Amino acid sequence: MLKTLLATLLPLAIAVPAQAAALDANQATARDIFSHLIAYKTEVGQAQVPVMANYLADKFRAAGFPDSDIHIIPHGETAAMVVRYRGNGSGGKPIALMAHMDVVTAKPEDWQRDPFTLIEENGYFYGRGTEDIKSGVTVLAANFIRLKKEGFVPTRDLIIVYTGDEETTQDTMDDLVKNHRDLVDAEFALNTDAGGGELGENGKPLVYGLQTAEKAYASFELTTRNAGGHSSLPRKDNAIYELADALKKVQAYQFPVMWNDTTIASFKALGATTQGKVGQAMRDFASNPHDAAAAAVLADEPSEVGKTRTTCVATLLRGGHADNALPQSATATINCRVFPGVAIDSVRQTLQDQVGPKVEVTLVGKAITSEASPLRPDVVAAVTKAVHSIRPGVAVTPVQESGATDGIYFRAVGIPTYGVGGLFMKNSDAFAHGLNERIPVKSFYDDLAYWHVLLTTLAGPPVTQ
Ligand SMILES: [Zn+2]
Repeated sequence: MLKTLLATLLPLAIAVPAQAAALDANQATARDIFSHLIAYKTEVGQAQVPVMANYLADKFRAAGFPDSDIHIIPHGETAAMVVRYRGNGSGGKPIALMAHMDVVTAKPEDWQRDPFTLIEENGYFYGRGTEDIKSGVTVLAANFIRLKKEGFVPTRDLIIVYTGDEETTQDTMDDLVKNHRDLVDAEFALNTDAGGGELGENGKPLVYGLQTAEKAYASFELTTRNAGGHSSLPRKDNAIYELADALKKVQAYQFPVMWNDTTIASFKALGATTQGKVGQAMRDFASNPHDAAAAAVLADEPSEVGKTRTTCVATLLRGGHADNALPQSATATINCRVFPGVAIDSVRQTLQDQVGPKVEVTLVGKAITSEASPLRPDVVAAVTKAVHSIRPGVAVTPVQESGATDGIYFRAVGIPTYGVGGLFMKNSDAFAHGLNERIPVKSFYDDLAYWHVLLTTLAGPPVTQ
C-alpha cells in the first residue's frame, strides 16, 4: 500500500516546481492581470485588442475609476485606451504613461510552449508579449489599482495611454495625438516600451538605459523605368542595370556623423566598460565627436553604427515581368533609420542626389522625425531613485535607440518622452518579436515595484529635505 502510495506521489513531487516565494496582494493582482493579458491574441488582424481593452476597463472600474475617465477609442479592428487618474493639480500638467496592447504575430507551432498561455517555468515567465510589452501594460494597470487602494492622490493627473498597433502601423497613436489631444495631452510621457536595465550573463545588473531619443523609421523606393522590349534585342538602357547602379551608389554612401547630448553621454558610459579598440573609439568619440577615426571604428560595428548617423540599407527588390522581356521597371526598397532632428525629406533628397535624376525616389507610407528629448533633472532623479529601489547602485545612462516606438509621436508634437521601462534582462534572454519570448519572474515583480516608486516620486507630495 505504502509502496503504491509512494509510487503515485513521487512523480508528482518531482513534477512540482520549487515553491515560488509567496506573493503579496499587489503582486498577485499583477500576476492575474498578466496571465489574462497574455491569453488575448492581440496580433494584427485578430480584432482582440478591443476585447482586451474591455477586460482592462472592468479592472479599472472595479478599482474605483469612473467610466468618464476610461476611454476606449476604436480604430478599425484595433483600439487605443486612455485611463486618467485624477490628481489635485498642485504639481502641474499631467504625465502620460505608455504601453501598447498589440503583440507581434506568433506561430504556436514554432514555439516550445503555447505563446498565448502565461507559463512560469525555471524562474521565467514565457509567452508572447511578456517582454514586449504586456508586462508594461500590466504594471501600469496594477499600479493604478494599487495606488487607488492606497488612497493616493497624485499632484498631477496620470494618464495611461495604451495603443493598439505599435508593432505595425502605429495609427492609433497618430490618431490620439492628432484627434484626441485633450485626452492625452501631458507635460511629458514615460514609456514602458523602451529603456530598461541590462543584466550580465552572471545575473548581476550592469547598467540602466534611460531612453531619451529614438531614430525615425522611413522607407523609400528607388524605381527605374524603361520602354522595355524583346530580350533578343538588348539595348544599353535597361531598368534592372540602372537600378543596380543606383543601389551601388546607395551602398557606398555614408550619411554625415551626428551626435547629441544623449549619444555622447551613452558613449562615455559604455566606453568605460567596453574593452579593446571599440571601447577606445567610444571614449575618443565621447570626448571629441569630430574624431573621424573614432567615428570610423564605430561605423564598422553593427551595434554602434546607428548611434552615429542616419543609416539606409537596401531591404527589398523587384523588377521585370517575363524571362524573355526587357524590364519595364525595377524597384528597390531602402529602409532608413533617421537621426533625431533630421528631416525625412532631406534624407530623400540625399538619396536622390546620390542616384541621379533618372531614378525616382519616393517615400513609402508615412514617416515622422522627432527631436531628442531634453534630459529633465526631475525625470532623471526619479528614475534613478526607482532603479536603485530595485537594483541599488546601478548606473543610469541616457540612450538613443535605433528602433522607433509610439513614443516618437509624442516627441513629434512637442511632448518630451522618456523610455523608462523597469525590466532588467540579460541580452541572451531577449527574444522580443521572436520565439519563446520570456522575462525573468524576479524582473517582472521588480518592474511592478519600480513603477510604484517612480509614480509616487514624480506625482507624490513634495518631500521636505
Ligand atoms: Zn514594443
